[in-house]
Amino acid sequence: MGTVYLVGAGPGDPGLLTLRAAELIRDADVIVHDALVSAGVLERRRSDAEMVYVGKRAAEHTLSQDEINTLLIELAGRYRSVVRLKGGDPFVFGRGGEEAEALVSAGVPFEVVPGVTAGVAAPAYAGIPVTQRGLVSSVAMITGHEDPTKDESDLDWAHLARGVGTLVFYMGVGRMRGNFRRLVEGGRPADTAAAAVEWGTYPRQRVVVGTLESLPDLVEREGLGAPAIVVVGEVVRLREKLAWFESRPLFGKRIVVTRARAQASDFAASLGALGAEVLQFPTIRIQPMEDPEPLRRAAREINTFDWVLFTSVNGVSRFWDSLRDVGRDTRALAGVSVCAIGPATGAALEMEGVRPDLIPSRFVAEAVIEALEAEGELSGSRILIPRAEVARPVLPNELRARGAEVVEVAAYRTVPDGAEADSLREMLRSGSVDLVTFTASSTVDNFVDLIGAEIGSARVASIGPITSATARERGLRVDMEAREYTIPGLIRAIRENYAERGQ
Ligand code: SAH
Repeated sequence: MGTVYLVGAGPGDPGLLTLRAAELIRDADVIVHDALVSAGVLERRRSDAEMVYVGKRAAEHTLSQDEINTLLIELAGRYRSVVRLKGGDPFVFGRGGEEAEALVSAGVPFEVVPGVTAGVAAPAYAGIPVTQRGLVSSVAMITGHEDPTKDESDLDWAHLARGVGTLVFYMGVGRMRGNFRRLVEGGRPADTAAAAVEWGTYPRQRVVVGTLESLPDLVEREGLGAPAIVVVGEVVRLREKLAWFESRPLFGKRIVVTRARAQASDFAASLGALGAEVLQFPTIRIQPMEDPEPLRRAAREINTFDWVLFTSVNGVSRFWDSLRDVGRDTRALAGVSVCAIGPATGAALEMEGVRPDLIPSRFVAEAVIEALEAEGELSGSRILIPRAEVARPVLPNELRARGAEVVEVAAYRTVPDGAEADSLREMLRSGSVDLVTFTASSTVDNFVDLIGAEIGSARVASIGPITSATARERGLRVDMEAREYTIPGLIRAIRENYAERGQ
């Protein structure tokens, strides 16, 4: 029999997942989840994990709590690791307690992984601490949406009104007006500060601030809806000083990243950390070569080379895969000099335990050759270049012209990946995308092939002049270009551009 893990997924921002939750999600055979578990969290699962959606927004039918309990027990009979994933914390308005009781009755082993609950996290991301020394010393977590079939409220409104410092309402928007009236009737001054935080911790977070008297109208006017946390108390006024999340340089910007998914994560994470909402649109996918033998042969014979020249992170990871395939490891490179094109490639090598002998300061062929020549005679040397199946011939040709024996091996190939093209085209044409980024000419070509050059009001950021030229050729206008042709250089260009425009 398997184990059921009742796991809190946190409020949305995947960075707020606990280490234990991330570990269990990565290891799960099956994940049973609700609507409020963010895509960024779910994407950490194994690609072959089975997914069962039991949220309220299920189109066909909604499972009752009893049916969910039965499902969990049944899955535990079939799988080793069943992760029951819930937004926030599983025991805070998450019905995790009921599921745990059912598992106990059925004799199914279970564990609980607490999560960062929305009632604390959404206010925190709005710049509202739920307690503050000298201001309030207690906080209550309240459901704003009591079971409507109940005749009388279980909540002691008079006590909540006067006996508790900060009030945090989950499911708080729908019945806010009535709940606030009860608080005022119970003795809370009508001018007590109150705020609603919609989609807290998500890039689309919205916050409305008012008082017990004014907030219901303000929320209605702004059209805020679920999921939202409503906070009542003087701590709300701290937001004026402490709002940090919305102040980040790219907050509210929707930015498309067109790199292959495997490589986009650092770029996407950096943009996300600056506040942007990142739409990953990998126009290409990296695939291993169908015939693994040439690269394996190179790996086997690696010590017959004087230099191995890595041109990309993919080249590094594929080469080491092959090294492992043939039963060898990094020590096989003893005595072979290693050159990395670009700092990211250098970092990938360091991860494999190799400090590159050479990282040319510029990444164009002439500069690479000049740097290699400074290290020693090229004539007669054997040079291995593991690279993409289709790659520019300039560098190997120039090396051969100087008398080197160059072995080029296709380490991986890039193939077009058009999944989600329709929905992105739709978003672009409706004007809901702010920026499209290109990190190579190939991503421009693939993007325009899949989407076209009509991108609405979205602007274009390019990693350098070659990519920009391709973009212009394909009918796009380039609005910003990196001065240093790297991902950090591109991020800097984007930041500067938005800073200049005053957002
Ligand atoms: N177990 C969850 C709460 C589930 S009840 C937790 O601990 O956070 C569902 C309610 O949680 C929503 O109606 C909303 O009030 C709140 N909620 C969940 N995620 C939220 C988010 N990202 N921003 C604001 N409120 C959120």
